[in-house]
Amino acid sequence: MYIKCDILICGGGLAGLSLLYRAMKLGIWEGQQIIVVDRSDKGSNDRTWSFWKKEYSCFEELIRHRWDQLVFFSNDGNRLQLNSGGYTYNSIKSIDFYHAVLSYLRACTNITFVQADVLSVSSAEDSCTLITPEHTYVSRYLFNSIYHQPELQAKEQYFLQHFKGIRIKTGSAVPPLSEAWLMDFRTEQKNGTTFFYTLPVANDELFIEYTLFSKSVLPMEMYDQQIKKYILEVLHIGQYEVLEDEYGVIPMTDHLFKRFEGNIVHIGTAGGDTRASTGYTFTNTQKTVGRILDSLQSAGHPFFKEENTGLKQQLYDATLLNVLAEGEYQGHQLFGDLFKKAPAYRIFAFLDSESSVLQDFFIMRSLRTMPFLKAFAGAVLNRLSRSN
Ligand SMILES: Cc1cc2nc3c(=O)[nH]c(=O)nc-3n(C[C@H](O)[C@H](O)[C@H](O)COP(=O)(O)OP(=O)(O)OC[C@H]3O[C@@H](n4cnc5c(N)ncnc54)[C@H](O)[C@@H]3O)c2cc1C
Repeated sequence: MYIKCDILICGGGLAGLSLLYRAMKLGIWEGQQIIVVDRSDKGSNDRTWSFWKKEYSCFEELIRHRWDQLVFFSNDGNRLQLNSGGYTYNSIKSIDFYHAVLSYLRACTNITFVQADVLSVSSAEDSCTLITPEHTYVSRYLFNSIYHQPELQAKEQYFLQHFKGIRIKTGSAVPPLSEAWLMDFRTEQKNGTTFFYTLPVANDELFIEYTLFSKSVLPMEMYDQQIKKYILEVLHIGQYEVLEDEYGVIPMTDHLFKRFEGNIVHIGTAGGDTRASTGYTFTNTQKTVGRILDSLQSAGHPFFKEENTGLKQQLYDATLLNVLAEGEYQGHQLFGDLFKKAPAYRIFAFLDSESSVLQDFFIMRSLRTMPFLKAFAGAVLNRLSRSN
């Protein structure tokens, strides 16, 4: 069957639902016929989004946990209390987000939800087409958040941030409830840049995530072994019950994602909203959604001009990935130098693309010069060769 509408939301996860919810709340798409296509019904907690922030954020009311004391542990066991300068670390459970957003959107009579596999999307002249096994949908605009690994160009880096997290019930909270151990490098580094996120979520509950930046994932039992070892040997917790787990892989790449293809707007990870240097996506996605909404309101179309992650940030991210790929200056040393020498609030502003070139310079100064200069020169040359 051939179905026409005004707007197609292809992929109803973080980006697709954030855009639709925020647009509907602003009244921008009132009266538009909108169809959301996703293979999942979003009935389970498939991930938790954590992010730092300084000000009131989108979906503030959904924040489940907030930590204001941020801590870093180097590979040799040094503990650094970070100078967060007013930033807090926060997390939102995806199930809370899906529940809140979907209960509002499902009551809107102009929105239809379709649970189906998307086979393809395309754009021609002023219309977009989305094909599922049963139907063909046609719309004026299509917002796509279904990610496909891109075909890489020469010298582009493609790292994976892969992780397994577990929530455990313990006898006591280690660390205390106010502390988030943002990067705990007290673990083997032989498979790449490897650290734990250790976040207390109740007096007797911890969320622990074993995270690696490398080019390939590990066999599942290795994540489990390392988590067990860390809990016993580093946290000194002998008895605990596993309440929940999460596994994920996030791309960290300097590939240049297309934002617009005809009337298709790529959003979320598919649109390049995952920061290549960190894998964090939540904040950047909300900023992109903000830009689309501003453009719709001021110009009547979604094709905003300026990206949040501009050329400067793209070059920094590519530099970091090149440094990691070279292996001469290892990730744990690099992050150790960074957090030891630069205040965390500067690093957060830098990673949020909110720092000046002078502030960037002070951050760069905390790192070893030669590997960075070499990698930066490589990143600039790669970019120049791509634009020719
Ligand atoms: C486990 C996990 C934890 C993460 N934690 C954080 C974090 O703490 N902080 C942070 O900033 N980022 C985090 N990320 C990265 C990023 O924020 C999330 O991946 C985020 O959900 C990306 O939003 P998105 O809309 O681009 O993709 P998604 O939220 O994945 O949405 C894409 C949607 O497309 C649907 N879909 C995919 N393929 C098809 C198909 N062929 N047909 C139909 N539907 C399809 C999926 O069901 C999904 O609903 C995490 C990622 C994972 C995987």
